[in-house]
Amino acid sequence: MPAGLAYLDWNATAPVRPEAAAAMAQALALCGNPSSVHRAGREARRLLERARADVAALVGAVADEVVFTSGGTEANILALRAFPERRLAVSAIEHNSVLANVPDAPRIPASRDGAIDLSALERWLGADRRPALVSLMLANNETGAIQPVAEAARLVHAHGALLHCDAVQGAGKLPVDIRQLGCDLLTLSAHKLGGPMGVGALVVSADLDPMPLIRGGGQERNRRAGTENLPGICGFGATARLAAAERQSWRAVAVMRDDAERRLTAIALDAVIYAAAAPRLPNTICVAMPRVPASTQVMALDLAGVMVSAGAACSSGKVRRSHVLDAMDVPEADAECAIRISLGRTTTAAEVDQLIEAWGTLYARTRASAA
Ligand code: PLP
Repeated sequence: MPAGLAYLDWNATAPVRPEAAAAMAQALALCGNPSSVHRAGREARRLLERARADVAALVGAVADEVVFTSGGTEANILALRAFPERRLAVSAIEHNSVLANVPDAPRIPASRDGAIDLSALERWLGADRRPALVSLMLANNETGAIQPVAEAARLVHAHGALLHCDAVQGAGKLPVDIRQLGCDLLTLSAHKLGGPMGVGALVVSADLDPMPLIRGGGQERNRRAGTENLPGICGFGATARLAAAERQSWRAVAVMRDDAERRLTAIALDAVIYAAAAPRLPNTICVAMPRVPASTQVMALDLAGVMVSAGAACSSGKVRRSHVLDAMDVPEADAECAIRISLGRTTTAAEVDQLIEAWGTLYARTRASAA
């Protein structure tokens, strides 16, 4: 990041790690289709399978369970469409890549602390004996609230259902083991981990036979057709390997995040931090400066060189009402003033100072003009 700028939007995307870029460059320099049987093809296949093993190891899976996709969005859709005979429910706080693709699926509500309501899930499961699929994320992208996935998995399995977990935000920042979580399908995205955009994976438990979303060649063991994005996948593998080795570094991020929250709320006594009481990702702050629209805050912070998001980042750059804060019963007027600050592995104390300074200046200015 150029000097003087503080990038505090890691939940939107993380900077590409040099090791990932190097692995991508190595794959780009190679000519060979992983499906070809000649030596160039075999070398491409070797790199592909190494990346598959690295991605699997990050989440305690075995390599054959990893299906590479074009990102977290495609992996989520693949999971949701994998078992068309099953009835489907999703939590109300899922990412739009889940919600927008299953408009008719029942939404399992969340409580005010930002976690899914397990008794509502149990009621939904018990209301119908047909086999089901439930989708519940590991950690919310807006608030960072960690979801009770293992408990949900126990309930879901007790009713003969399957659990899909969107672990896009949790993987790398939290220890993730698909067996301990007990989920049957798990979504990952490379760019949230310091890999490239446009690559992800659906980890599919070995005993399942999901219906493919994209048919064609027999790639990915007939689960996702299309020549694999080898450079992207190699970048994904390299960053997964690093992420698996350095989970400790997120402890320091949590300390910095807690310090930032203390300072933000000391400046703005009326500021509200959402999901503050819930177990959360170590890096995420969802905070409202009451009566100052999120878009105003984002622009003012950007002018001061600090990059954050307004609630859910939307591809058009427009700020939409947050369905997550809605599900948590946050009054609309407060939700419209919520921004998301997300720190990362390389965030410095100086960047946090820059945030606090810019936030303090904006707060003083808006309160003075209101007086
Ligand atoms: N799921 C969650 C929780 C996310 O935060 C995102 C991206 O913001 C996605 C899925 C989509 O991932 P991708 O950008 O790789 O399509």
